[in-house]
Amino acid sequence: KPGLIVSGLDKLTGRNSTQTVHAVNDVTLSVPRGEVLGIVGESGCGKSTLGRVVSGIYAPSEGTVTLEGKPVARDHRGNVDKLTTRVQMIHQDPFASLNPRMKVGEIIAEGPRVHGLIPAREVQERVRSLLEQVGLEGAYANRLPHQFSGGQRQRVAIARALAMQPELLVLDEAVASLDVSIQAQVLNLFMKLRRELNLTALFISHDLSVVRHVCDRVAIMYLGRVVETAPADELYAKPLHPYTEALFGSVPTLGTGRARFHPIKGEIPSPINPPKGCAFHPRCPLAGPRCKVEVPRLVTPSDNRSVACHLQDGGTGAQTGAAA
Ligand code: SF4
Ligand code: MG
Repeated sequence: KPGLIVSGLDKLTGRNSTQTVHAVNDVTLSVPRGEVLGIVGESGCGKSTLGRVVSGIYAPSEGTVTLEGKPVARDHRGNVDKLTTRVQMIHQDPFASLNPRMKVGEIIAEGPRVHGLIPAREVQERVRSLLEQVGLEGAYANRLPHQFSGGQRQRVAIARALAMQPELLVLDEAVASLDVSIQAQVLNLFMKLRRELNLTALFISHDLSVVRHVCDRVAIMYLGRVVETAPADELYAKPLHPYTEALFGSVPTLGTGRARFHPIKGEIPSPINPPKGCAFHPRCPLAGPRCKVEVPRLVTPSDNRSVACHLQDGGTGAQTGAAA
């Protein structure tokens, strides 16, 4: 069950050589078919850029992205490969992503129609069943986006994505703009759909309390790199990376009001000129001399976990100045 495999992925963004940001830095991860992987980090950590490369919206600078063994990418001229229809993205703001002049039935039918996924005479029936699948009435097909609430619009966006029968869904802050009670409804819908359809998904969020409910595994990103991955229950029971621990220290739980990310002590460093060594060292309470000079490698303390911290790497610790 290969699913998504991201290998050695780099993405440089920015317009000129002085402003280049290494938005995604040597990221390797996999999402077996039927699994939901959470990608968590503060704003600017590269999680949205990662989502866009995986979706084929951006070309990788280095490395590969494959889905069921086949590459997902733009070609070298920037043309959208037809394979990109295999990945569907759901964005934070459902209003911005739905054409205000199109009826939602047309919005949902457009992709399958353009790509010839279903015969024309079956389109209406398919739209109706998709609307019902996301908890809306089939008759809503004739309404315009502005006639829906934020939560309903996000349901429409999910129906539109499912209409393409994607092999992978990428949800980027998909519930972040919704009120907490509506967030819970949309998350419950997502969990129902993933069971029914055996969905494979990347669930990108700044909010660990949201991710906990919907993800099998979680990858924590910091300044472009994955610093920890673990099954969700193990991560929440025992985070290994000091950054992950710090994230937990600042996470409000669902239902306590707006689940705003409350950043950790210290500023997020500029991704244009990230700190040397472990990029987290200026904010890490456990940093030693080694952390300022040597990038920690991703090690696997147990079968299904990985972590990039000198404290977890063979006991040599953060204090030695090995590479100084
Ligand atoms: Fe902290 Fe050093 Fe570990 Fe980085 S490598 S998280 S600075 S202890
Ligand atoms: Mg983002």
